[in-house]
Amino acid sequence: MQLASLKLNPRADTRIRAGHMWIYSNEVDNKVSPLKTFEPGEQVVVVSADGKEMGVAIVSPQALICARMISRSSKATLSKSLIKNRLQSALQLREQHYADQSYRLCFGDSDGLPGLVVDRFSDTLVIQISNPAMELAKEQIIAALDQLINPTTIVLKNDGKMRPVEGLPVYVDVVKGELNDGFARFTENGVKFDAPVLKGQKTGWFYDHRDSRNHLKRYVEGKRVLDVFSYIGGWGVQAAAFGADEVVCLDSSAFALECVMRNAKLNQVEDRVSTLQADAFDGLKALTESKEKFDVVVLDPPALIARRKDIKVGERAYQKLNQLALRLVETNGVLVTASCSMHLERNRLVNIVQAGARQVDRTVQLLEQGHQALDHPIHPAIAETEYIKCLFARSIKSW
Ligand code: SAH
Repeated sequence: MQLASLKLNPRADTRIRAGHMWIYSNEVDNKVSPLKTFEPGEQVVVVSADGKEMGVAIVSPQALICARMISRSSKATLSKSLIKNRLQSALQLREQHYADQSYRLCFGDSDGLPGLVVDRFSDTLVIQISNPAMELAKEQIIAALDQLINPTTIVLKNDGKMRPVEGLPVYVDVVKGELNDGFARFTENGVKFDAPVLKGQKTGWFYDHRDSRNHLKRYVEGKRVLDVFSYIGGWGVQAAAFGADEVVCLDSSAFALECVMRNAKLNQVEDRVSTLQADAFDGLKALTESKEKFDVVVLDPPALIARRKDIKVGERAYQKLNQLALRLVETNGVLVTASCSMHLERNRLVNIVQAGARQVDRTVQLLEQGHQALDHPIHPAIAETEYIKCLFARSIKSW
């Protein structure tokens, strides 16, 4: 395949040479290689201003990140064999660490396949594609996954919010096999779940906190637990399965809470799990007013800071939530507080918990710090691939 060249402006090659994989639209020499002359998803040879070939990239002509490197070799193309090799390497990592055949199998840029996410739920694979080159390679991706794993079911959950930005259609399609009423069964940390892979959020599940959830075991036996922003019970149902006496899952979505009870039943812990449908801010306030206390409060909200310019407002929301949650923690209890906003720095979250403790006249001790699980590896040159923070903070009487 003869590829066209994408010429960079002077010095725009420095970051790429240092290991980054993204090219921004203002880094392209638009006189020599105007972006509008490329097809969405076209593969190009990236050339520095002084004429050196830097490798192959895939192009999204109308996006701010207009090209993503897929190889440092100018001869590589996004072929089935390249896709299969990268997926094989990704699979090897996950198989080495997780015996349950359930994990994020492919994490985009970090696994060398920008714009491709694959979550594995035992025999079901859920694929999310977010750029035009991966969309064009859809059949090769499916074929490669079939050869590596031979799953019974493959779902294309192509309804992410980046798709319209990339000019891609929004759709959800079961491309292989069937799904039992829209759910896929799997286990995490030995606990069974049904993920709503057709109607749920993202792929239907968030594997990124799996290792931190496993650490709940240390804290919940015989205890009363509150799981705020519970979604379908990732933390709460595991807490019950790990021996909590009572678990309350709070979420604003009735559907998510129906799934909580479905998952509680699956593990025969439904008599110890209940749900509370409410806005988190209102629900936490109401629980405080009725003088409820919990030994463990989990606070794992959606990303409250989507963009850099939202940092101030978002940090205030994290502050408010953490303060409200700390009010509900028993003396000597534990707040498990998380953030999936890449724009919230870990130190800021520590500061927020510390400030929240002062506001409710408590002292906190940080016991553990959790990170994204290793099925979400971090690309060291791409800061955006690191986003999960989790703190286990013991709340004690103020000194
Ligand atoms: N903790 C979950 C992931 C949270 S996903 C897990 O470990 O899997 C975000 C959840 O927050 C969704 O279920 C969504 O319905 C809920 N949510 C979003 N805004 C909310 C709000 N203001 N109050 C309560 N729940 C909210």
